[in-house]
Amino acid sequence: MTMTRPLLNSRLADMGTTIFAEMSALAVATGSVNLGQGFPDTDGPALIAQTAADAVLAGKGNQYPPGPGIPELRQAIAAHQLHWYGLQFDPDTEVLVTAGATEAIAAALLALLEPGDEVIAFEPYYDSYAACIAMAGATRVPVTLRPPGFRPDLDAIRAAVTSRTRLILVNSPHNPTGMVLTRAELDAIAAIAIEHDLLVVTDEVYEHIVFDGQHIPIATLPGMRERTVTIGSAGKTFSFTGWKVGWVTATPALVTAVRTVKQFLTYVSSGPFQYAVAAGLALPDSFYAQLAADLRAKRDLLAGGLRQAGFEVFSPQATYFITTDIAALGADDGLAFCRSLPARCGVVAVPNAVFYDDKQAGRSQVRFAFCKRPEVLAEAVRRLGGLRQAAGE
Ligand code: PMP
Ligand code: GLN
Repeated sequence: MTMTRPLLNSRLADMGTTIFAEMSALAVATGSVNLGQGFPDTDGPALIAQTAADAVLAGKGNQYPPGPGIPELRQAIAAHQLHWYGLQFDPDTEVLVTAGATEAIAAALLALLEPGDEVIAFEPYYDSYAACIAMAGATRVPVTLRPPGFRPDLDAIRAAVTSRTRLILVNSPHNPTGMVLTRAELDAIAAIAIEHDLLVVTDEVYEHIVFDGQHIPIATLPGMRERTVTIGSAGKTFSFTGWKVGWVTATPALVTAVRTVKQFLTYVSSGPFQYAVAAGLALPDSFYAQLAADLRAKRDLLAGGLRQAGFEVFSPQATYFITTDIAALGADDGLAFCRSLPARCGVVAVPNAVFYDDKQAGRSQVRFAFCKRPEVLAEAVRRLGGLRQAAGE
């Protein structure tokens, strides 16, 4: 067999290994404090874990669950959307359980896009967006978010629409910047979608991790429910990122389209965990308030430490990430900085540049995750404090 043709298809040729995998491996190899990949270092509520263990032992979900997800979970997701946002979804036809938000994103984009379609998305993007748009043979059209506020330029969104635009991919609260779209910004995006008859896919996995501002699902806006695929995930809300339970809520026609693809990606997943997530969604509002309060304190702890260590800090309104600028430390290449940071001081972070098409726009930005125990954050701050000294200040 001649190997002149590359094995990986050309659509994915630029993708390589995800920055999260690269940086988590580096953290393990160097014994560094890992503030790169966003996963909590403590598990979610014991009640939810116990429900999963009980389900396994009781033989619930150990064999293929129903394709759209177990009824108990679909009902719990519908009840969640109604309780928090007044959005009514029929659990039988308008809710789909997926293998994390990751599969929901992939299935939605593969279902709704034709080759050659254009997708407008904010950059920096969550990394799987670019890959899934590429897998669909579509083209991403970035609208760049810029510090310090990372607010979207609404005129730039309008200007990005062409006759080939099929959908707008929204992510609010936004990873990595922590920006939360305001009602006025969402209204403007909705007006563009309606005027040009575009679909919206909206990734709302950080919906309950908001400190400043308010999370408003774009599907709640007039005229948007019928054109919007809303994506959620148990990973962030319940601090079980390894369980990979996510979901889609949308009209029956949109759910049918997404499910058609989903059934050939994983078919089903996470059987016993689906029972546990249903139990999690039944927790009282105080659980969600506590989650946000805990993470707010951690944000403030890490933000203060990063400032002291010499970083410019763009305090996030939401999520568990802080974007910083390293220019104040005399550096400008975030990727090189992150690759050298473990050796310099035993901390891992991720360079935002990899989430931009316009590499220059994100070149000196570095993201730190703060979903870690306070003592871990304190240790990271202590280690980062040596950076300026090492640089001779
Ligand atoms: N979207 C965003 C914005 C994320 O940050 C993540 C990862 N945490 C995902 C989707 C993937 O979620 P899941 O782990 O449920 O697949
Ligand atoms: N969402 C996580 C982050 O942004 C990473 C998830 C993953 O590794 N795919 O850090």
